[in-house]
Amino acid sequence: MNRPMTDHHRRFLQTMMSSGVMESSKANALYLNFCGDQSAPAQLDEFIDVINAQLQPMFMNIRKGTSEDNGLEYYALVNMAETDITRMSSDYADNELELFRKTMDLIVESERGAASSTDILNCGDRLQTKKMKKKDVENVLDRLVHDKWLNEKHGEYTLSTRCVIEMEPYIRNMYQDLVKPCAMCHSLAFQSQTCESCDVRIHLPCAAKYFKNHADPQCPSCKEYWPHDIPVFPSVSLSQPTSSQPNAAPVSTASRRLRK
Ligand SMILES: [Zn+2]
Ligand SMILES: [Zn+2]
Repeated sequence: MNRPMTDHHRRFLQTMMSSGVMESSKANALYLNFCGDQSAPAQLDEFIDVINAQLQPMFMNIRKGTSEDNGLEYYALVNMAETDITRMSSDYADNELELFRKTMDLIVESERGAASSTDILNCGDRLQTKKMKKKDVENVLDRLVHDKWLNEKHGEYTLSTRCVIEMEPYIRNMYQDLVKPCAMCHSLAFQSQTCESCDVRIHLPCAAKYFKNHADPQCPSCKEYWPHDIPVFPSVSLSQPTSSQPNAAPVSTASRRLRK
């Protein structure tokens, strides 16, 4: 039988509902704030299991995934009823969804897992549903970033952590031949490095972790020389592969404060 939710579970769920996605050390701090000094992080997953059991009939789920941007773990509240982009149809018009699909095409087809604003702007007058002026495309992109479907940095758009967690089944189905899992964490890899001889892909933060102490980096699959610059992520060097520790120093101080 499902364990009942307490007020702590309900307050945690309310916070998840308003933020949509939450970094795991924040989720842990929130959990500690609600539940006092039971600090073993394994208990956060148990705590979330109780909420997930109640969410199941509504086809909702709190799911964990890793950010391609910083390698940190995040929890996202995902809708499992809709299996594709139609889940966004209450918030976006048809041509806005078509623009999002085209943006996703550009990101998935690119080597670096990103699409430039120029390329996305050019899609505006090729939309079949209804053409869009540049200004309108910019507004839609701002909303997609605000709603946490896309990330933007220096005019480059990437899929957000929430988008990858929530849309993974859709993306795997839609882009079967184009997408590949990361050889390290097995989640889909967009912002990644690719082996030039066997096409194995590794996320940038996963590569940072895997190649960290390798003077002569080799592909984990074919053992050929890994020719890419090994990325460095402060969050990856601090954190453990599993969330057995609070990930970032400032947050762990905060959670200690909250525990008093
Ligand atoms: Zn990975
Ligand atoms: Zn290889």
